[in-house]
Amino acid sequence: MAFSFELLKTDRNTAARRGLVKTSHGDIETPVFMSVGTFGSVRALDHHDLENIGVQIILGNTYHLYLRPGAETLKRCGGYHGLIHWNRPILTDSGGFQIFSLPHQRVITENGVEFRSYLDQAPRFFSPESNIQFQEVIGSDIMMVLDVCVPSTSSRDIAARAMERTHRWALRCKNAQQNHENALFGIVQGAIFEDLRAESAQALSEMNFPGYAVGGLAVGETDEEREHFTLYTAGRLPQDKPRYLMGVGTPHDLVRSIRAGIDMFDCIIPTNHARQGVAYTFSGKVKLRRAAFAVSNEPVDSSCACFVCRRYSRAYLHQLIKCDEPTGWRLVGYHNTWFYERLMERCRTEIINGTFDRFSENFLRTVED
Ligand SMILES: [Zn+2]
Repeated sequence: MAFSFELLKTDRNTAARRGLVKTSHGDIETPVFMSVGTFGSVRALDHHDLENIGVQIILGNTYHLYLRPGAETLKRCGGYHGLIHWNRPILTDSGGFQIFSLPHQRVITENGVEFRSYLDQAPRFFSPESNIQFQEVIGSDIMMVLDVCVPSTSSRDIAARAMERTHRWALRCKNAQQNHENALFGIVQGAIFEDLRAESAQALSEMNFPGYAVGGLAVGETDEEREHFTLYTAGRLPQDKPRYLMGVGTPHDLVRSIRAGIDMFDCIIPTNHARQGVAYTFSGKVKLRRAAFAVSNEPVDSSCACFVCRRYSRAYLHQLIKCDEPTGWRLVGYHNTWFYERLMERCRTEIINGTFDRFSENFLRTVED
């Protein structure tokens, strides 16, 4: 079945939306948080965990998958779904963000971007066309265009030139797409300049993508700037297409961005912070490394229904994290991923009930981020 998006409800008091994405690997209720599975695994969790948690879609990183395992292996294993034995939806980024984060190891021309493999230093090249060709080998349900990422603190001139090239590349990506069962999203750039963001949203909307991402945020701007530009950009994108805020964020970022009209998120926080012993709950963060938890028989969150909270104490998790035990990363990562899913579920319910404004204001005011 081809990709589609249905807008089920728009909140009356905020720009929040409740929607349904359909893909050939199943439906996705939005707003949705996507767990990041960089190398084929959401760190320390297996697919059985993800299914139990209710994870609807995972994200794969094209840059990493291109270098390892590479196109030949993916082709022989039935794409990324076949290789990793995951039959729910997958989204892939284009790898642009990772490549542009290597300032001394890449050369960008109008034709594409040349970069070096971090595995063997061999030169590699992505054009917009070859990037889409590779994402089609991955077989992702949602692909992203190859864009030109610059820090959000860039000068207007640099931001404008990156944006213009992003638009030309977006069109080339669109023309390179062969498999129209899967969706290709455009990415709005323009750093923190209102006129550029508006121009970018307009130019990409005219290209008629099935979905749009807000790129180039969470890379150097302040929280206030991020909030402003999320709202500003989301409001300039078509109502009837899903909107994805890339690489964001904390529970507050998510709730604030849902208020701004964003439908999709991804971030490494739930599993990455787990390693440092940071657990997220509806009453704020629990820093499990703190000495006070060494003898606490309480669960991380007594109101949480995840298996970690039903079985284990803060004292046990404190011990595992202090000793750098992988089981500790897994248990805290499981709880955090569970929490992010429940937070999204809660937001979806509040939007449908017409109570999201009150819920989100209260959450932002009372829950420590
Ligand atoms: Zn829990």
